[in-house]
Amino acid sequence: MTRFNAWNVIKNGLNGQSGWSRQWRDPEPKSNYDVIIVGGGLHGLATAFYLAKNHNIKNVAVLEKGWIGGGNAGRNTTIVRSNYMMPGNHEFYEHSLKLWENLSHELNYNVMFSQRAHVSLFHSPGARDSAARRYNVMRLHGTDAELWDLKTLKKKIPHLNYDDSRFPILGAAVQRRAGNARHDAVAWGYARAADSLGVDILQNCEVTGITRKNGSIESIQTSRGTIKGKKVGFAVAGNTSVLWQMAELGNLPIESHKLQAFVTESIKPLLDQVVVYGVGGAHFYISQSDKGSMVFGGDLDWYKSYAQRGNLPIVQDSAEAAMAILPCLGRIRLLRHWAGVMDMTMDGSFFICKTPISNLYLNAGWNYGGFKASPASGWYFADLIANENPHNYVHNHNLERFEKGINIDERGAGPDPKLHG
Ligand SMILES: Cc1cc2nc3c(=O)[nH]c(=O)nc-3n(C[C@H](O)[C@H](O)[C@H](O)COP(=O)(O)OP(=O)(O)OC[C@H]3O[C@@H](n4cnc5c(N)ncnc54)[C@H](O)[C@@H]3O)c2cc1C
Repeated sequence: MTRFNAWNVIKNGLNGQSGWSRQWRDPEPKSNYDVIIVGGGLHGLATAFYLAKNHNIKNVAVLEKGWIGGGNAGRNTTIVRSNYMMPGNHEFYEHSLKLWENLSHELNYNVMFSQRAHVSLFHSPGARDSAARRYNVMRLHGTDAELWDLKTLKKKIPHLNYDDSRFPILGAAVQRRAGNARHDAVAWGYARAADSLGVDILQNCEVTGITRKNGSIESIQTSRGTIKGKKVGFAVAGNTSVLWQMAELGNLPIESHKLQAFVTESIKPLLDQVVVYGVGGAHFYISQSDKGSMVFGGDLDWYKSYAQRGNLPIVQDSAEAAMAILPCLGRIRLLRHWAGVMDMTMDGSFFICKTPISNLYLNAGWNYGGFKASPASGWYFADLIANENPHNYVHNHNLERFEKGINIDERGAGPDPKLHG
């Protein structure tokens, strides 16, 4: 692999860009691996990278049924933040944000992480109190967090709808170190870095069957042949229940729902921050991409499905939510919208845990917040697979937590997966 550095950029600029090697190999599957990770999204790729980098486990394959980053990894609205409050979640997401801060250097790949601030509007004194509680908890943990009053908010973002919005804006809770990254670049960066450490990335390799023997997985059937692995990790996000049933494990406390994202035509710089609001049944988040497009999203499509496409009422809902907060977008043209399949859990928190099968490990339940989590998810999933013990930050993020009454319900929304955004 040719490293990206000033010398190689200059050299290849002079020789017609002929000296760059492939970003990652396209190997044939081997018959045996130490670890097989199913799912070539961000979580699967990050896990493979940290297995090789942190634990020196390099005989690893990532099996991806399509192309890497073709799932939620390349479909999200790229918001990265760590404004979580519950024990375990807070430490996990803060570690993730710290990994994001050095990720381009770590991977030798520009993931375009832009710490432009995450501005979460509040519209009532009650919402302000609740934001103050959450952001004070963050400060007590040493995470950056601040509250902006209306005057400060107006100065920072003058063109929000302050005058006649349906729900008056009172201020905002802000995390300045939060922001956006380029999602494809993260997938490519992890793939390239993992490959350079010896990991095989096998695209067009769909897992179609799982053979069990004496309480463990003996082999995996794929569209590219049968492959054996001493350990197997699932990191297939919205398809987790499908793989779970393939392994004859029954049902999971996960529902698969669709979430849409929207991208407009490019315009001049309009919005420097990620702006979010949720009130009166509306949920909306928006930022501006480096190319100038407005990128936004809202709620789930409200019904369960494995289809990677969305329904029209949500297009209208999201457009209305956009207009409520930024009426200046009224005449902008929507270029594209699409959907991804979200692995929504009963309490809105994730699973990084062992399973009833001795050599199978589960990484799932990212709801619609798994992009920001991907570095830490890979880090702690690799740690679990390598060391067999869940790290303290994730030791409650298992399948037994509901039986034990340890719900990690960050949003306080109750046991209805579609309410956990
Ligand atoms: C519209 C939208 C907006 C979002 N916005 C944000 C956001 O702003 N911030 C944030 O933090 N998160 C966001 N998310 C959530 C985030 O994208 C996901 O939680 C995260 O990407 C899930 O992990 P992943 O990347 O590994 O999943 P995926 O990329 O979906 O990876 C799973 C992979 O498994 C593969 N697979 C499935 N079945 C098989 C099989 N049988 N064999 C082999 N491979 C298989 C799939 O093809 C897929 O590539 C958003 C998601 C969507 C859809």
